[in-house]
Amino acid sequence: MSKSWKRRTKLVHSGIRRSQYGEVAEPIFLTQGFVYDSAEAAAERFEAAGEDEFIYARYGNPTVRMFEERIAALEGAEDAFATASGMAAVNASLTSMLKAGDHVVSSRALFGSCLYILEEVLTRYGVEVSFVDGTDLDQWKAAIRPDTKAVFLETISNPTLEVIDLKAVSELAHAAGAVVIVDNVFATPVFSRAIELGADVVVYSATKHIDGQGRVLGGVVLGSKEYIRKTLEPYLKHTGGAMSPFTAWLLLKGLETLDLRVRAQTASALALAETFEGHGKLANVIFPHLASHSNYDIAKAQMEAGGTVLSLDLAGGREAAFRFLNALEIVTISNNLGDAKSIITHPATTTHQRLSQEQRDALGIGDGLVRLSVGIEDTEDLIADIAQALEAA
Ligand SMILES: *Cc1c(COP(=O)(O)O)cnc(C)c1O
Repeated sequence: MSKSWKRRTKLVHSGIRRSQYGEVAEPIFLTQGFVYDSAEAAAERFEAAGEDEFIYARYGNPTVRMFEERIAALEGAEDAFATASGMAAVNASLTSMLKAGDHVVSSRALFGSCLYILEEVLTRYGVEVSFVDGTDLDQWKAAIRPDTKAVFLETISNPTLEVIDLKAVSELAHAAGAVVIVDNVFATPVFSRAIELGADVVVYSATKHIDGQGRVLGGVVLGSKEYIRKTLEPYLKHTGGAMSPFTAWLLLKGLETLDLRVRAQTASALALAETFEGHGKLANVIFPHLASHSNYDIAKAQMEAGGTVLSLDLAGGREAAFRFLNALEIVTISNNLGDAKSIITHPATTTHQRLSQEQRDALGIGDGLVRLSVGIEDTEDLIADIAQALEAA
């Protein structure tokens, strides 16, 4: 497969495996297992399976392999392993490499289920976890120790969109010999430079931009061949987090249009942020590529574009936020992101409801804050919808 291909070519052609029929679209191998020509062939395959040899769908499947190779080509990673959901990927990326007594440093502003794994699951098995404010390099410096095995972070936090300096954190982690694991959903695979900036392992929820059409759950872990095949694969193939071939097929189709969708979404997100910054009903508009953003310099240096999500802080608190959501006609109320449809969420009462008021305050999740995932609808229609809903708020 050509390494010199640019992103959009890789997204259409990388990883393709054609059957003897020469089909145009990627085939779905909806099969649990594979037959062997002889007892000797079975024995040989169990000893060492070749490139195009599969044993059992929990270990690997041709359609799933196509998806893994295509996303690995896009990310510039040596290898990848696909999982049933984003959380299966996050969990396996950590659990496969950690044991009791190990130390992990993580940023605190995490997707709720990621926080659960680090705070509740890993600690139950004797892993020590230190949490830091991800934007404060001094806190990383103080928390990373010679025995730190891994650092975990989301480059852009949810829903307050803080941007972490991945290069600086990676340098601190690598000086201590720690593995850098990045949950990169908000940066998107299109704008990711995670490996170039120092990440050793990159994790995506494919449910978000990669599917981008609200159909399936999926996840993927990307990294070196050594990490994927020696550390991650044995763990995943025996614990059962495998991706369904049908899901992989939908995600291959999602990848074909990923770059087009994400660039259109990102352009609209910037237009919305610029249009509504300073609006009388809003206390704040948060978008990484607005000059007013608290980590603007890092966001500019690290990201080609600001991403597909912006957050709006309604000055009138929860009541205004609810009136705003209920008045929207195009933007739908849901909790996915990266979808072709624009989606809005009130984190304090939904995705972050589990947290205490103090925890929400510490993360900057106020009662007026809403998270808007911008879709591929016409930008002017979105501006008009938000404008009329703000009037109603
Ligand atoms: C959605 C999401 C996940 C979890 O992915 P699922 O596919 O829902 O399991 C993890 N991290 C981030 C940042 C997410 O947005």
